Amino acid sequence: MSRTHFDLSRRDLLIAGAGTAVAATALSRFVPEAHAAAPMLGGSRPTHYRFKLGDFEITTIFDGQLAIPKVHPIFGKNQKIEDVQAYMTENHLPADKMTISFSPVIVNTGKEVVLFDTGYGEERRDKGAGKMAATLATAGFSPDQIDVVVITHCHPDHVSGLREGDKTSYPNARYVTGDVEYNFWSNKDLLSHSDKGMVGRAKAVQSNVVPLVEKIKFIKPGDDVVTGITSIQAFGHTPGHMIYNLESGGKRFVIFADVTNHYVASLAKPDWHCIFDMDAEVAVATRKKVLDMLAADKIPCSGYHMPFPAVGYVEKNGGGYRWVAASYQMDL
Ligand SMILES: [Zn+2]
Repeated sequence: MSRTHFDLSRRDLLIAGAGTAVAATALSRFVPEAHAAAPMLGGSRPTHYRFKLGDFEITTIFDGQLAIPKVHPIFGKNQKIEDVQAYMTENHLPADKMTISFSPVIVNTGKEVVLFDTGYGEERRDKGAGKMAATLATAGFSPDQIDVVVITHCHPDHVSGLREGDKTSYPNARYVTGDVEYNFWSNKDLLSHSDKGMVGRAKAVQSNVVPLVEKIKFIKPGDDVVTGITSIQAFGHTPGHMIYNLESGGKRFVIFADVTNHYVASLAKPDWHCIFDMDAEVAVATRKKVLDMLAADKIPCSGYHMPFPAVGYVEKNGGGYRWVAASYQMDL
């Protein structure tokens, strides 16, 4: 067997240590020339994350992310732009741009597979979101295995993935959403709203949610989706936004959807208005109430716009809160 750079003898090392010229000679005898012929692959990240909660199995799915060319006034609309930008810089984030990511959650209770929100679907696939259809398979699920789809609220990043082309994405599913939320968004008057953004969101509901009405169960805060999954009122982000408490084997987990939209700003500065919140003040009150509960009871949780895998804990920190991302020890 010929010698390689892996089997330098002690003598070779002593020679190499004796001087630069000698070292170069010793190494050139054994180190093969590098070619670096492999192409650059671009960035990479995991697309699903799975762990146990009692008898449940929870999987978060990466639907993708969108680049947004500003931070203020999306976050901190009621603050000075320079204060918001300084706070981003302080937190190692760009001051004048950001990415926002989307993370639906699948809960397998052992009896049914429940999907919370569906990602952006085709609508923003060309911009880097809407990957759910592809990542679902990577995570080990097929669309026909989804028994229940829960819609936390009707914004396009949560409902546009309900359909692919002219077909429903989850052929065997029944659907669950809040009655307040559906009644607000399904009103056709919104299609002639003076705010173009509202018209776009209303159109997304008309094309993705309304056609499913026969299969939707409308619930109120406190109602169960299935045994062990209960809705909690969290109005403000949208008129009928709801979050979900999971309990299995004495363990608890909360899917808090869009109570927060930014893992730093929404937690550290819960009073900062977010442009995505339809009633900013009600959303602030809800945010504080939910974050207080998560922090006080040390409840593991998932937020739709938290950094993937979008699973962690909330802690009190000064006058606000901070996001504590899940570690590899997340099995509960
Ligand atoms: Zn959202």
